[in-house]
Amino acid sequence: MAGRAVVVGAGIAGLSCAVRLRERGWSVRVLSDVAVHGSTSHLAAAVWFPTRSGPRNKVLDWGGRTFGTLAAQARAGVPGVVMRESLTLYRHEPGPQWWAAAVGPVRPARPDELPPGYRHGLRFAVPLVEMPVYLPWLAGEARRRGVVLERRRVTSLAEAGADADLVVHCSGLGARSLAGDTSVTPVRGQIVRVVNPGLALSVRDEAHPSGRAYVHPREHDCILGGTLDEGVWDTTPDPAVGAAIVERCHDIVPALRGAPVIEHVAGLRPARPEVRLEAEPATAERPRVIHDYGHGGSGITLSWGCADDVAALAGPGDRG
Ligand SMILES: Cc1cc2nc3c(=O)[nH]c(=O)nc-3n(C[C@H](O)[C@H](O)[C@H](O)COP(=O)(O)OP(=O)(O)OC[C@H]3O[C@@H](n4cnc5c(N)ncnc54)[C@H](O)[C@@H]3O)c2cc1C
Repeated sequence: MAGRAVVVGAGIAGLSCAVRLRERGWSVRVLSDVAVHGSTSHLAAAVWFPTRSGPRNKVLDWGGRTFGTLAAQARAGVPGVVMRESLTLYRHEPGPQWWAAAVGPVRPARPDELPPGYRHGLRFAVPLVEMPVYLPWLAGEARRRGVVLERRRVTSLAEAGADADLVVHCSGLGARSLAGDTSVTPVRGQIVRVVNPGLALSVRDEAHPSGRAYVHPREHDCILGGTLDEGVWDTTPDPAVGAAIVERCHDIVPALRGAPVIEHVAGLRPARPEVRLEAEPATAERPRVIHDYGHGGSGITLSWGCADDVAALAGPGDRG
């Protein structure tokens, strides 16, 4: 008989864990209080790149394995996943980048590849995931494998695990109440969606004088970012902030000028000083719990590497 696992959360963390647990023979239910398109994961720019997450050695390991999984999915034609050529801009000659070990070849950008005013950049290819396409696909994949997805708010991990042998806890910011973990805090990100005028290169400048700037082209739109507002809960987009994002993105991608704005959006990254990925033994009140939350601005970047580790901690679900 299969062991019964309950996953709390249907963002990228919860859904990737659900698929991996099912592969290991667990019977899996996913509980989430909002629909898939209501999660933070759904609005993410979702380009592979470590942002506001730690610890660095584990981020490199989880990120490297996720890179491999997403790259394989892109090759296999999974909906919403592509390999995107990208350019990271620098004001000074960049030294060795700590994340480079997780990606393929990285080379200095040629002068003719740089926007006006820039003298340094690195070129490399990374997975880019269109979450409004990929997340529903992933939920469908989970269902196809027998995972049951339920819309339900849980008030405690004990309640979630009442009929289960294992709880996998992927509630993002929900961990503040469900795990009593006040080290999980929101890092608000405001972005702008504009019509894609025909761009295919992802560009970022993390040190732009007026704030972080990134442009990630998708099939029909481009995501322009963005902010990292520590501790801010308000998800109402600020029009002035949006206008400033558009302005600095024009500096790094001049071809964007005149691209019609589709919408302004803000979401909350579930940040923590370090990702929490660990098991807690069963107690009298609840079964064993495996936590997987606190990925900050890297939830997609770390997803499959973390899900693999969660499945390894869970062990085989098929009890014969
Ligand atoms: C503007 C922006 C841009 C980003 N860009 C990138 C990027 O380029 N690359 C990248 O890797 N990451 C990016 N991120 C970060 C990424 O979105 C997050 O790290 C990731 O979505 C976290 O996934 P998660 O599954 O842990 O959480 P979430 O997506 O927040 O999902 C949490 C789930 O838990 C459920 N839940 C919570 N509490 C309860 C409860 N009590 N009962 C039932 N269900 C509950 C929710 O309903 C939801 O299903 C970006 C984020 C933002 C805001």
